[in-house]
Amino acid sequence: MATPQQLQLLAPLSGVLMPLDQVPDQVFSSRVIGDGLCIDPTSSTLCAPLAGVISNVQASGHAVSITDDNGVQVLMHIGLDTVNLAGKGFTRLVEEGQRVEEGEALIEFDADYIALNARSLLTLMLVVSGEPFTWLAPETGVVQNGQPLLSLNPSEVAADEPEEGEALFSKPLTLPNLNGLHARPAAVFAQAAKGFSASICLHKQQDSANAKSLVAIMALQTAHGDIVQVSAAGADAEVAIKTLVELLAAGCGEAVTVMAEVETVATDASSLKVLHGVCASAGSAFGQVVQIAQQTLEIIESGRGAQVEREHLSQALATAVLDLQQLRDQATGDTQADIFKAHQELLEDPSLLDQALALIDAGKSAGFAWRAATESTATLFKKLGNALLAERAADLADVGQRVLKLILGVEDQAMELPEGAILIAEQLTPSQTAGLDTRKVLGFATVGGGATSHVAILARAFGLPAICGLPVQVLALANGTRVLLDADQGELQLDPELAAIEQLQANRQRQKKRRQYELENAALAACTRDGHHVEITANIASLAEAEQAMTLGGEGVGLLRSEFLYLDRNHAPSHDEQASTYSAIARALGPARSLVVRTLDVGGDKPLAYVPMDRETNPFLGMRGIRLCLERPQLLRDQFKAILSSAGLARLHIMLPMVTQLSELRLARQLLEEEALAAGLTELPKLGIMIEVPAAALMADLFAPEVDFFSIGTNDLTQYTLAMDRDHPRLASQADSFHPSVLRLIAGTVKAAHAHGKWVGVCGALASEHLAVPLLLGLGVDELSVSVPLIPAIKAAVREVDLLDCQAIAQQVLGLESAGQVREALRLHHEATVDTSLVLEN
Ligand code: PEP
Ligand code: MG
Repeated sequence: MATPQQLQLLAPLSGVLMPLDQVPDQVFSSRVIGDGLCIDPTSSTLCAPLAGVISNVQASGHAVSITDDNGVQVLMHIGLDTVNLAGKGFTRLVEEGQRVEEGEALIEFDADYIALNARSLLTLMLVVSGEPFTWLAPETGVVQNGQPLLSLNPSEVAADEPEEGEALFSKPLTLPNLNGLHARPAAVFAQAAKGFSASICLHKQQDSANAKSLVAIMALQTAHGDIVQVSAAGADAEVAIKTLVELLAAGCGEAVTVMAEVETVATDASSLKVLHGVCASAGSAFGQVVQIAQQTLEIIESGRGAQVEREHLSQALATAVLDLQQLRDQATGDTQADIFKAHQELLEDPSLLDQALALIDAGKSAGFAWRAATESTATLFKKLGNALLAERAADLADVGQRVLKLILGVEDQAMELPEGAILIAEQLTPSQTAGLDTRKVLGFATVGGGATSHVAILARAFGLPAICGLPVQVLALANGTRVLLDADQGELQLDPELAAIEQLQANRQRQKKRRQYELENAALAACTRDGHHVEITANIASLAEAEQAMTLGGEGVGLLRSEFLYLDRNHAPSHDEQASTYSAIARALGPARSLVVRTLDVGGDKPLAYVPMDRETNPFLGMRGIRLCLERPQLLRDQFKAILSSAGLARLHIMLPMVTQLSELRLARQLLEEEALAAGLTELPKLGIMIEVPAAALMADLFAPEVDFFSIGTNDLTQYTLAMDRDHPRLASQADSFHPSVLRLIAGTVKAAHAHGKWVGVCGALASEHLAVPLLLGLGVDELSVSVPLIPAIKAAVREVDLLDCQAIAQQVLGLESAGQVREALRLHHEATVDTSLVLEN
């Protein structure tokens, strides 16, 4: 092998040098991609630092690699997170495979646009083939384009000998990364591949790349939803494939929503039989595909004078607010109305408007300025890594598009839907669904979104089944394709067999009859066959839900999640607003029924815009619930005061979330007593705590004498007991409240409470599970607070069991090993004890 010549690398730009260690992006500063330098540019054309062949230029134009004749590979990456700009602001001047001379122009870029719309303009030049180098200039300070900067001392880098043996292939998997394997995830992947001796390739359709080469991976030009495979040959091939496939599925260091997997290798949707996603709203339906596409809008960048453009924007905003008001008034329920209310609030956001006006004053058109402002704010929301804020980004995109259409004078075409439509979309926005005739819609299936997405919320509100997180191939299905949407299984079956359709219809018929039976009997008390009464109350977050709960047989409210008053707004709710909401809810219940108001449970994962907090590494383990409120006692005092104003209208209970220490309970009680005294109340409302931190469950005997009641939050109790994030997509099936460890904590809590004459409820999602009814009754739980639509079903389930049987099965499952075993034992118990011929099955 020839010894490569000394090689000089020239500055690809003019600008100011910055040490690589200080680049605010770990993938570059850690040198995992390669060692090199960083320049804060003052010129706007990226030039070749060496002669060679363009081994890769990203379609989005923000990164380019050159390989010289000796195999030296240099990557240049303009800006940080510029992949998100999807090519905007970059002009590629070269093609892949083209030979370039040193100093030749490679990419022109719009520095202003990038500085405004991306995280940073800092530009990297990295030696990805790994040759060591020495500096030919000072390592900091100003440099001129073309100035010699580095001298490479190429050692003989031995090429990897390909491993012998037959290659093993992984199953195909869908790339979850929003922008494919761009520099950052590609570097993480290549680095991991280098840890194995096997020869490893990444395949995309007919193209393959050496998995140990960053540049080769980038040259595959992968995109979100691409189907890829890993192959490997050599001694550690099997473990390499397993590790790398897991890494790809997890996003190679990028935050991703877990993608669904397709069952066949083909990327052509017509050859697929089943597409998998996640259930966003339960149920199933058979119907025909109707694709809903987002319109692309043509926008001219330069404006016709600031005055004209400002006027244009303000007119569009005013019209949008009015249109949203009309949509709110016509909404099919509170859920939809609330979404449009949140959209109106977004339009009033001053910083959004300021950003747009600044761009208009800089000569841009109203449309361009508005789009840039909404997109950059949405990107910011997404970057915060919080599911709820990511949803707000989707809201912003939706309302942004609404205003943009008004600016451009683009009219929405009313869409005529066929009967039995299953709507398919990349992402369904509230605005898209608002104009649709939902009587003709049987379900939704989308690529984006999750359990907290709007499509999920709307689907649940309409009572329609929905699946999110489907592979992008779903967007290629022809309109009219017959599909069976089985949301419970998270499956979309294409052109299903007749037998599957018949089975689905028979199940639906049975469920319908069962539901009818439950509704007809909803007003009956929830008494077991041997006469034991359990209170069935509702989990609510609005007045409408309180009213609905009463019509469905709810015996009270076991959990009012008061957060709804505080979230999605720029300032705390006023005393009057809070007081009138609590009072209206209490009035809807009346003086004979219990109302349990939980104090604010935000912080960490649910930040409030008007309560500045530091970003937390583990939000669920941070300043959440009562911890946050005790740190800001005025917030809690104000809430107590507002809750107390509804005393007497219902049997008022106040409940504290996330209590871990006795001192938290005592401090909160003291504040409550002071507020009650100030309000002139002679009698305190009942004060209880949620049992959702294992510490509180384990010390229930010490808490019990100091509370009036406990309510067990099984959602959090499960995540803290099992150390599994309740929203973790890959742990979803394991983070199961039926786990015996959680059940033992419930058993201990009930025992401690009853020893002190206090009642115990369960308000976590476990209480809404039909299968859990005999278990919780058997453990001695006194109240089940359930999701409103499930009140009739849970009441019916209570009426089908005997307390003595329940006690026996509850004791039995406490000794089992896993949640799966518990579920199975409960299923068998149900079959053995409930006469399914008399009462229709659920
Ligand atoms: C729970 O944790 O079970 C609970 C009911 O509270 P939330 O789901 O609101 O955290
Ligand atoms: Mg909780």
